[in-house]
Amino acid sequence: MRVLRAKVLGFCMGVRRAVELAEGEVQPPAPGRRYFTLGPLIHNPQVLGSLKNQGLEILDEKKLPPDLSNAVVIIRAHGVSPGVEKELAGRGALVVDATCPRVKANQLKARALAAAGRRIFLAGEADHGEIAGIRGYVTAEDGAALFCAVVGNAAEAAAAAEKLYREEPAAKTALIGQTTISPEEYLAIGEGIRKFFPRLKIADTICGATRDRQKALRELCGLADAVIVAGGKESANTRRLFAIAGAQGKPCWLAEGPEDLPPEIAAYNTVGICAGASTPDEVIDAIEKALVMGEYNPALKRSSDEGY
Ligand code: SF4
Repeated sequence: MRVLRAKVLGFCMGVRRAVELAEGEVQPPAPGRRYFTLGPLIHNPQVLGSLKNQGLEILDEKKLPPDLSNAVVIIRAHGVSPGVEKELAGRGALVVDATCPRVKANQLKARALAAAGRRIFLAGEADHGEIAGIRGYVTAEDGAALFCAVVGNAAEAAAAAEKLYREEPAAKTALIGQTTISPEEYLAIGEGIRKFFPRLKIADTICGATRDRQKALRELCGLADAVIVAGGKESANTRRLFAIAGAQGKPCWLAEGPEDLPPEIAAYNTVGICAGASTPDEVIDAIEKALVMGEYNPALKRSSDEGY
């Protein structure tokens, strides 16, 4: 069997940085100090397991312990609002900010645009941590929340823009997007708002990491007979890669590790591997090795049609 890797795969810059920062904090651990991440650092079971073994626990943002003195709390790559950071510091935590520099730039952009008097539209998933974090930056100097409409699609964007137009037809507006939104969706959302505010300022906030992995997968599909998507089943960007491979008509499987490789793969001459932005190098290497060695899990009887 020939095994091909996608040209771009695995950890993006922001995730790699966050994992390295977390490992750097906990190694070696200081006596008596506790270590936490605010929510799971990334959606990958192996990385989470390894961090847990190194002594990192996961804090639930909605159930913060009252006393976090002598505790290090690491902020995830997608960031948090200033209010959450303040809350942590107020409980005595030593906050380590592992927010991806690209997300941080967008947070600061949102703050600057709002400070310049623009009404902010935020394009993305309302319940995603990155959006909640950016939203927290759209405040006045005294911390009071300013206008900020979170919109998930073009219809929502047009409806929110129409509502603002009725109240404030001369408003200056700006659009900021979640770093992982698709460019097509972002454009459509911008057009929805421009029906009412033609002079909308659209900030360039999309990160190329997701797009690069998807493009590399499409190229890989042209070269491989079947595809393995390496990554966590809870990872949204990994699942999106899996859907893209399926849409290209390729037999494909999502594997969190070599144990997820079913024996049917042996039927293909050329197998491609791609991986989501939260998949560590070790997992990709282990899957590639198992494919080359022909080590499948005989207990698995999944066809690619069954998904994962
Ligand atoms: S996808 Fe982009 S913005 Fe998000 S963590 Fe990775 S590098 Fe940063």
